[in-house]
Amino acid sequence: MNPCAWPERWRIEGALILAAAGGEPFRGAIEIAGGRIVALGPALPPAGEGVARFSRPGALVLPGFVQGHVHLCQTLLRGLAEDLPLERWLRERIWPLEAAHDPESLRASARLGLAEALLQGATTLLDMGTVRHTEVIAAEAVASGARVRIGKALMDAGDGVPAALLEEPGRALREALDLDRRWSGAAEGRIGVLLAPRFTLSVSAGLWREIAAAARERRLAVHTHASETTAENEACRRLHGGRPIEMLERWGVLAGPTILVHAVHLTAEEIELLARRPAAVVHCPGSNAKLGSGIADLAAMDRAGIPLALGSDGAACNDALSVPAEMRLAAQLQSLRQGPGLLGARRILAMATGGGARALGLEGEIGALAPGKRADLIVYDEVELAWEEEADIASRLVYASAGLRPREVYVDGRPLVLEGRLVRADLAAIRAAAARARARLLARAGWR
Ligand SMILES: [Zn+2]
Repeated sequence: MNPCAWPERWRIEGALILAAAGGEPFRGAIEIAGGRIVALGPALPPAGEGVARFSRPGALVLPGFVQGHVHLCQTLLRGLAEDLPLERWLRERIWPLEAAHDPESLRASARLGLAEALLQGATTLLDMGTVRHTEVIAAEAVASGARVRIGKALMDAGDGVPAALLEEPGRALREALDLDRRWSGAAEGRIGVLLAPRFTLSVSAGLWREIAAAARERRLAVHTHASETTAENEACRRLHGGRPIEMLERWGVLAGPTILVHAVHLTAEEIELLARRPAAVVHCPGSNAKLGSGIADLAAMDRAGIPLALGSDGAACNDALSVPAEMRLAAQLQSLRQGPGLLGARRILAMATGGGARALGLEGEIGALAPGKRADLIVYDEVELAWEEEADIASRLVYASAGLRPREVYVDGRPLVLEGRLVRADLAAIRAAAARARARLLARAGWR
């Protein structure tokens, strides 16, 4: 089948289907029409006229993964900021390199990151953009076919921040809102815009208050890093007079939908507060482990009812943009921290699918396979998962899928990966362009 002429109405038959993270798989069919799931079950009525049928015995179909936090601008920075704790990692490497981006290097970085994410089964991504040229990332998101939520990184303060990343607060917010006007709802609604203040240490109290007001007025969610390290908590207290969660509450940010990334070092009171607010947490265990930041108390946040998602963070601190790798690490770290079983594989798989969707405010559209939902789904080879019927499928996916790639990836019912290869782009060309752009970026940054 020519992917450019993909049918509007089609179905997969004879596959093993896992409709939602907490459920049991069944063997049957799933039918798609106009980008949405119209039916699924063990015994669908015969396909109507004009419905393309794909027989997939030996395939496992499940909801596409939600990649809850990435920095597509950092894909070119992979391997350039090794063995440093967060504060030095940002000041000495990431900020100067991010500041050296031009539209061409940003395009190459976003294109590579999106390609890697799609090839590893992420159908939805939440990206923290950068300070300048974030519209380039939005354009790449449209071209990729993925579902992407994005925001311009807001920075108007902070120690050691290069001038190119520091903006006058009024202008910064204006640009962030322009991005919303221009891109929200683009690509048939696949693109959405949020406000993305970087973290409490790089945004002034005045700008935080304006962000809270703009978010309320424009009904935009806020996506920010919070309480990643104990040093950040302490620096925030010195700078603003309280810890990050306390300050976000005081500035009015937590009154509206807020997606907090990391939340590694929270008190019991902070967890209780977040549970009462429309706040979600994106857990990035690979990034937290590499930077030595700590292990978030997922079980406590889950018990409190906070929506939880999983994210890789940028390639400069992860280095793989793989949700399955984060699932496995999250499960293993929680087992080490809490003892096995407190947060089982099904809960972890939920964070990567339905829970991630809820954290991003997209639970009505994605996160599970059900009639009416968007047809964002991925297909694995069953045999590669080595799953047997007496085993728990969530457990196989969480512990054994990190090295596997889905054979097929669909967003809005259209194929973006078939036979393990990108449909719309050539990975080798993307990698070659990324290497050229990276060399020029390093030259601009004075690295060579
Ligand atoms: Zn991040």
